[in-house]
Amino acid sequence: MSIALTLDLTGRHLLCVGDSARLVSKAQRLAEAGVRLYWWKTGPVQWAGDDNITVVTHWDEARPEFLLVDLEDSEERQGWIDRAREDGVYGWFRGAPEASELQFPSVVQRGPLRVAMDTGGLSPSVARWLRQRIEQLLPDGLSDLLERVALRKDIEQRLETPHQRRSFWYRLLDNQFIHRAALSSARDTDAVIEDTLESVADQEPRGEVYLVGAGPGDPDLLTLKALRLLGEADVVLHDRLVSQPIMDLIRADAEIIHVGKARSKHSVPQETINQMLVEQARAGKTVVRLKGGDPFIFGRGGEEIETLAEEGIDFQVVPGITAASGCATYSGIPLTHRDHAQSVRFVTGHLKNDSSDLPWADLVQDDQTLVLYMGLVGLPIITRGLMAHGMSADMPVALISRGTTPEQTVVTGTLSNIVERVDDAGVRAPTLIIVGSVVSLRDRLAWL
Ligand code: SAH
Repeated sequence: MSIALTLDLTGRHLLCVGDSARLVSKAQRLAEAGVRLYWWKTGPVQWAGDDNITVVTHWDEARPEFLLVDLEDSEERQGWIDRAREDGVYGWFRGAPEASELQFPSVVQRGPLRVAMDTGGLSPSVARWLRQRIEQLLPDGLSDLLERVALRKDIEQRLETPHQRRSFWYRLLDNQFIHRAALSSARDTDAVIEDTLESVADQEPRGEVYLVGAGPGDPDLLTLKALRLLGEADVVLHDRLVSQPIMDLIRADAEIIHVGKARSKHSVPQETINQMLVEQARAGKTVVRLKGGDPFIFGRGGEEIETLAEEGIDFQVVPGITAASGCATYSGIPLTHRDHAQSVRFVTGHLKNDSSDLPWADLVQDDQTLVLYMGLVGLPIITRGLMAHGMSADMPVALISRGTTPEQTVVTGTLSNIVERVDDAGVRAPTLIIVGSVVSLRDRLAWL
């Protein structure tokens, strides 16, 4: 049976046998860790490093303590295994995991912090998959933070109980600052450490609100930051627009509050949502306000944080992929294109009374793509208005329903026939409308 150990390899003798790229990359990593590298006869075929390699033709020239062998010929390989056994040398032999004492775990490293994953040689792909997941979990600023805390000598004294120490670390690691820490100065990092220390030592815990963009539907389009926050939230207030697969990523024991809005049926008034955010944060919780797309694009994100700012609640906004980007890419319609559109305009099609509140002259411009959010109900008025203000009746139009989700459907047509086509297709909300000659590119570019 094996266990994972770490070993200081500085100055240790390592002999490599073979010339595969796999072997070279392993040797490269070991050279960076300070081994003395010997290569059997040929030397590596391609070596990116400038570290010294000694090419040897006799075992005794290398006097190896470790051996890495990557050879096609299994008899030849067995010879090396026997030789290693004889001399008590630890080896890695590609294709012979049972003979290899050495394994190379998949590693995620942040400064002094190291997470190693090993499947006992059974599946490198599984280890790589795990590694990607763990990469996503660890913020860039983590190593800086650990190093700064290590420099502080007063922490042990100021935090007397194990409970306090644990809360200090948890709070520090959950603090969103560390996700920016790589970009900040050491002084800022020290200030955050000091704040956390103080709050744990003498204050009531205070919560924070994260206004998080969930993107248009496909969970793969979440940002890493959004994903992490979904795993940390104590309470999540979400819109109707947020898709179920994304809801499934929320921490299992988080409280989930639906505050969603259906068109012209505001289930929870905006003012109440604002107040709920304040109350939950005051109760010391990590509050995630999860919104479809991007919080700052037709999302009333600005209003929500205004209340938080007035009430002195800490908050952050996490951008998301807006419906225009998601729907356009997933339906093969570039929003700008050198031959078609030099600008793109996001417009709300949610008309208050009639068509008079849309700036028609601005909308009818050459070389411009229009993206209409919330435009399904107003579509007849919008298409008529655009034509009345001079847009060609043949202008291509696409309506994307439930964009980026497995139920995505796209209806295309022109200004003059899109209403009829949409009626016939019986599309379901949410829908986004794209108007402009870029829509004609879809025939060639759609990739889904
Ligand atoms: N903040 C959101 C927009 C909120 S307004 C964002 O940035 O995307 C709600 C409108 O967004 C819907 O009426 C619809 O027009 C559009 N929308 C959001 N998600 C969509 C999706 N998956 N497919 C099509 N349209 C979508």
